Amino acid sequence: MYTMNEIVVILSGGIDSTTLLWYLQAQGYILKEALTFNYGQRHSKELVSAKSVVKQFNDSFEQNLIHRIIDISTIKDLISAGSLTGDKSVPKDFYDKESQKTTIVPNRNAIMLSIAVGRAVTINARYVAYAAHASDYSVYPDCRPEFIDKFDEAMYLGNLWTPVNILAPFKTMSKTQVVTEGLKLNIPYELTWSCYEGKESPCLECGTCLERTEAFLENQKSDPSLTSEQWDKAQKLYRKHKSE
Ligand SMILES: [Zn+2]
Repeated sequence: MYTMNEIVVILSGGIDSTTLLWYLQAQGYILKEALTFNYGQRHSKELVSAKSVVKQFNDSFEQNLIHRIIDISTIKDLISAGSLTGDKSVPKDFYDKESQKTTIVPNRNAIMLSIAVGRAVTINARYVAYAAHASDYSVYPDCRPEFIDKFDEAMYLGNLWTPVNILAPFKTMSKTQVVTEGLKLNIPYELTWSCYEGKESPCLECGTCLERTEAFLENQKSDPSLTSEQWDKAQKLYRKHKSE
């Protein structure tokens, strides 16, 4: 039996997908499972973040959201064109630059969404949500509304007797707007991890670090995951790359 508002969420442990959990909870959805994919990332920092985010979510709302880490790293060698899984180094620059194309893992969202839809059918959840947002537009085609709408239709038709719909409530929002929503919901952003490099502290100048700094700056907030010294450095690096 379907429960109309039950949902499976794809959670990376970054700020967008963490915001998505709190956002959907506020909208009245019942969050059944959060799926974190280990697709052979070069580090496991984000897996650790995802775990603590789910724990905080369950503690805050007295919920029983189940967290599953899904290991798809066995396909790493087949889809390692991008710098997130392969041997290339992580480029230090904004997302809209040509260099950022190396951070694309081929067909990543379709792969993760397909598995999540299979899981949703299995546990009778009606929806799958992921945190695609508009700042990814320029390089990541699988975050665009055109992709989301067609994929939603395909998943619906492909599971017609037990239909599942794809939700991407941030698809027209910039990352800054996502953080604006999140700040209203008191999200523990200090638990989240964005950097593409898995060092002890974030590098502050890869595409995702720069985008994160921009989102907090434009909300006139400091990034709560950073010390004040790191935040000063993050702002300096942001201005440096912005002016290049
Ligand atoms: Zn970084």
